[in-house]
Amino acid sequence: MPTIYIGIGSNIGSREANCIKAVEILREKGIIIKKASSMYETEPWGLKDQPKFINMAIETETELSPEWLLVVTQEAEREMGRQSIAKWGPRVIDLDILFYGDMIVEMERLKIPHPLLCERDFVILPLSEISPDKVHPVSKKSISQIAAIKKPTSAFSTQKGMKMSLRARRAWQSR
Ligand code: ADP
Ligand code: MG
Repeated sequence: MPTIYIGIGSNIGSREANCIKAVEILREKGIIIKKASSMYETEPWGLKDQPKFINMAIETETELSPEWLLVVTQEAEREMGRQSIAKWGPRVIDLDILFYGDMIVEMERLKIPHPLLCERDFVILPLSEISPDKVHPVSKKSISQIAAIKKPTSAFSTQKGMKMSLRARRAWQSR
């Protein structure tokens, strides 16, 4: 089964609880959770005038094709009450497929690796925690190389790592 990385973000309501809930929903839908990063509080990206985000990343496995995985992640977003809203605007949950093995997908509604991955500290930070050696199939650089090249922007200077519930992480990882 391919190893798939999913980015999770929330900036409405109980942000940490929303991220944990999203992982639970994905697990209930049959996605195998292998690793979960810490949570990071991050400044909004793109649309600045909105609350800060909590972000994390998970390493997963599934037999689902990329298109079906998008259906499942969008279903999970909807179940958690995400409305279709402004691009990059506030959201109760955001689930992005970052990598799907080494597959490159260039569809209208699905692009893998996620196109803005390398530019977003809030993706690179959690990924470098759980998969520093993962190589980006297009740039051929590892996550730790991307993290080293990328200049930290002031927008992310207040970022801080937040340990999520260790109990939840152990539970997911032992399944
Ligand atoms: P962002 O995640 O960049 O903040 P949105 O969540 O608002 O932006 O964008 C949602 C749209 O992005 C969806 O309609 C989906 O079809 C599209 N999309 C393209 N590639 C991906 C991907 N790899 N993972 C998740 N959504 C994607
Ligand atoms: Mg998204």
